[in-house]
Amino acid sequence: MHFCPHCGAPLTRKIPEADDRPRFVCESCGAVHYQNPIVVVGAVAESEGRILLCRRAIEPAFDKWTLPAGYLEIGETLQEGAARETLEESGYHIVDPHPYAITNIVRVNQVYIMFRCALGDRVAAAGRESLEVGLFTPEEIPWQQIAFRSILKTLELYRTDMEKGSYPVHLFDIA
Ligand SMILES: [Zn+2]
Repeated sequence: MHFCPHCGAPLTRKIPEADDRPRFVCESCGAVHYQNPIVVVGAVAESEGRILLCRRAIEPAFDKWTLPAGYLEIGETLQEGAARETLEESGYHIVDPHPYAITNIVRVNQVYIMFRCALGDRVAAAGRESLEVGLFTPEEIPWQQIAFRSILKTLELYRTDMEKGSYPVHLFDIA
């Protein structure tokens, strides 16, 4: 952040009064611009033992497979965000989402909240963020071509939970 979104003046980085860490502060209008972690929402959508994956059409991780996920938008709930991202990236609706995997990725200021859900109707083709979408049993998942470590770990947990038939909420960190 270089300039104040309110008045356009250059920002300085300093610890405001009564605060305990550096912020972007506008010396001109006095505004303090906080930066906070970003929430990523997504879905582990299953239909009869097969999991929905999307092959990425965009960087980073172009051509790799991932679960549908993306940034939560202002004005939507976590579940709505997961449903929207799944629809945008795969063309599928999701049904009955439950919290499943919560991931802290402190290094990149992100929190992932992934929902497990049933796969609903397909109402559109894969979006422009996806080269293709597919439904995979755990054995069929392209394990060597999964885009992100958080997604890989989520899929590994889900595979184990499918075997057990029990789906607790998982909380884990990615360094
Ligand atoms: Zn300002």
